[in-house]
Amino acid sequence: MTLHTATAVIDLDALSNNYRLIQSLSPNAKVLAVLKANGYGHGLELIAKALPNADAFGVARIDEALALRAAGIVKPIVLLEGFFAEEDIDTLAANNLQTIVHNEQQLAAIVNANLDVPLKVWLKIDTGMHRLGINPEQLSDFYQALSQSKNVQQPIVLMSHLGCADDKANTATTQQITLFDELTADLPLEKSLANSAGVLLWPESHYQWIRPGLLLYGVSPLSTDVGIDGILPVMTLQSSLIAVREIAAGAAVGYGGTWISEKSTRIGVVAIGYGDGYPRHAPNGTPVLINGRRVPLIGRVSMDMITVDLGAESEDNVGDITTLWGKGLAVEEVAVFATTIPYELLCNITRRVHVQLAK
Ligand SMILES: *Cc1c(COP(=O)(O)O)cnc(C)c1O
Repeated sequence: MTLHTATAVIDLDALSNNYRLIQSLSPNAKVLAVLKANGYGHGLELIAKALPNADAFGVARIDEALALRAAGIVKPIVLLEGFFAEEDIDTLAANNLQTIVHNEQQLAAIVNANLDVPLKVWLKIDTGMHRLGINPEQLSDFYQALSQSKNVQQPIVLMSHLGCADDKANTATTQQITLFDELTADLPLEKSLANSAGVLLWPESHYQWIRPGLLLYGVSPLSTDVGIDGILPVMTLQSSLIAVREIAAGAAVGYGGTWISEKSTRIGVVAIGYGDGYPRHAPNGTPVLINGRRVPLIGRVSMDMITVDLGAESEDNVGDITTLWGKGLAVEEVAVFATTIPYELLCNITRRVHVQLAK
């Protein structure tokens, strides 16, 4: 008896396929592939090494960038929130890391630094999402200061971020694009605005650099859609049945006894739980794929296990492989049941989940 524990099966051919499709949607743009949060749970170095054509990588934390350098990645790497401490500037310079600048503190730290090699800077403007970015009225001052600083490699890149790009009907995106165009029209610089949803829905947001994340991993960023034609899931999360049990009508299953069987049935226990990153809030009825059919999750998700109702006539056996999401069951769908988004499910995968390459 050899039972597989929770395993994320990673399909690097699917990743290449998605990369090609993304590039074909925006053939003239360079691609900054977003790898933050451990490559959206898929494995930072694994994904970086499987994207040989990417023009740059984007991460959110300096440690992620340093891990990529330690793994031998030499491509440009951009810190998407910039650096968090003045001391980091030397680390950026020493490791050839690029940084976003979105506030006065970062600007002052760069201008006042004493660097041997200038830093590549992406200046982030807030065009309406009101999270990170300088205000439009600050652009000219920031641009002047950055263009005159000996610590900054010229030319800089201008960027902003879209807050509502996943919704085609939302006029906020058009307003953001229009404002970005107005603000940057006179500056002969490379520009960047599009995340995955921008790549898919807003061609006018592509400019010289697109910044896809979720779509690379084969998952739709659009709240209304499950699956995008030609895009393939990179991660399939699996585990195995570790018990198949017959229970009588009226039996309560799991912690709190929150699910009670209406009739006698067979239940399956699958070795995956919130300790692996499976969402604890997934309710009764969340689909789980086993032997080619969907069965409902029943009872509470435990740390290391879930229970499913296999049905009285079922023939599933201990050891059978169970898919929680991925090929055959979109993570987008599971996210709806768990009242979250696929981004969160993917990057919540924990360290004890084995990573295995698809055959
Ligand atoms: C995370 C991130 C992206 C990628 O977003 P997706 O929706 O996953 O494509 C792009 N740009 C910035 C600045 C980000 O932080």
